[in-house]
Amino acid sequence: MVDLYGQYFKIKDEVNEAIQEVMDSSAFIKGPAVKNFETKLAEFCSVEHVVSCGNGTDALQIAMMALDFKAGDEVILPVHTYVATAEVIVLLGLKPVFVDVDPHTFNIDTTQIESKITDKTVAIVPVHLYGQCADMEALLKISKKYELKVIEDTAQALGALYTFSDGTVKQAGTMGDIGTTSFFPSKNLGCFGDGGALMINDASLTEKSRMIANHGQQKKYHHDVIGVNSRLDTMQAAILNVKLKYLNDYTLKRQQAASYYNEKLSEVEFLNTPYVASNSTHVYHQYTLTTEGIDRDEFKKYLADHGIPSMIYYPVPLHHQKAYKHLSSESFSVAEALSKTVISLPIHTEMDHEIQDIIIDKIKSF
Ligand SMILES: *Cc1c(COP(=O)(O)O)cnc(C)c1O
Repeated sequence: MVDLYGQYFKIKDEVNEAIQEVMDSSAFIKGPAVKNFETKLAEFCSVEHVVSCGNGTDALQIAMMALDFKAGDEVILPVHTYVATAEVIVLLGLKPVFVDVDPHTFNIDTTQIESKITDKTVAIVPVHLYGQCADMEALLKISKKYELKVIEDTAQALGALYTFSDGTVKQAGTMGDIGTTSFFPSKNLGCFGDGGALMINDASLTEKSRMIANHGQQKKYHHDVIGVNSRLDTMQAAILNVKLKYLNDYTLKRQQAASYYNEKLSEVEFLNTPYVASNSTHVYHQYTLTTEGIDRDEFKKYLADHGIPSMIYYPVPLHHQKAYKHLSSESFSVAEALSKTVISLPIHTEMDHEIQDIIIDKIKSF
């Protein structure tokens, strides 16, 4: 699905040198590379502050702790997403309120949000799924009207751009109160282990998030709030400092691979190529199609039998997951249908037409 070695190989000397520097300095926790990376990422995203942390799941949890949500508060999120989004909500004693997704973009259906708002609702958590921004203009209108906080789960969409109807362009993760992201190796900006960050424009919210990520302390051994231990390793920050320089190139490579797939697969009757909304760019964390008129699982097995990897993101919608199904008795027809029809093909920064043609030929012979 990805070619992490191929990507590393091209920048091996630069990355190895950065890692060696960290080892030579032995500043493994909160070394200079961490601050440096936070500054550079903030610049890249045109956001005031970046707070790094241990992973993208922690970033979501720290965001919700920093915003002072209380047990029993309701948080609205799409039902078609990675489990992390719902997991932290439940862990904090909050109540996840699922909303179905748009059948074209696979992102939260903003027309269904208002009917889910109660006097307990405190926030909406849009997920910019597969690399394309949710309909933020409509979502922010609702959040303003009801005075709700917005946390953007940007783990799959770092670098995606959203255009508002007045022409303003903003980076994914910088439109709400807090944006969270992940540097899991296979994400669009990945490190060599776990890593994550929060993107924030408000100074006091930044300070609070930074404290929470570091045991609730600003001054060592003086704990002002209850926090967690969630820091980005200096080693990972050093790697990210190198890789951030290439993120725009990486995005372009993914977009080029996607457009080649689009061109060749649009004529395949049993597949729908990804829809891209006019208000967002797509950074193709995943290249996700839907099948039509065939058995998706049979198709997936055929591909596997012919050596073509593919993945289902996600095979079971959250409200049907064993750990979460007690939280909602509703049905979500779009998410339920997508769990049976989505299929993601390999997409990464090292793809060329030769690899893609092999995949495309096998698909066509099915
Ligand atoms: C990867 C991912 C996360 C979690 O990030 P980790 O770094 O793996 O904790 C959260 N939300 C979404 C949508 C993701 O894809």
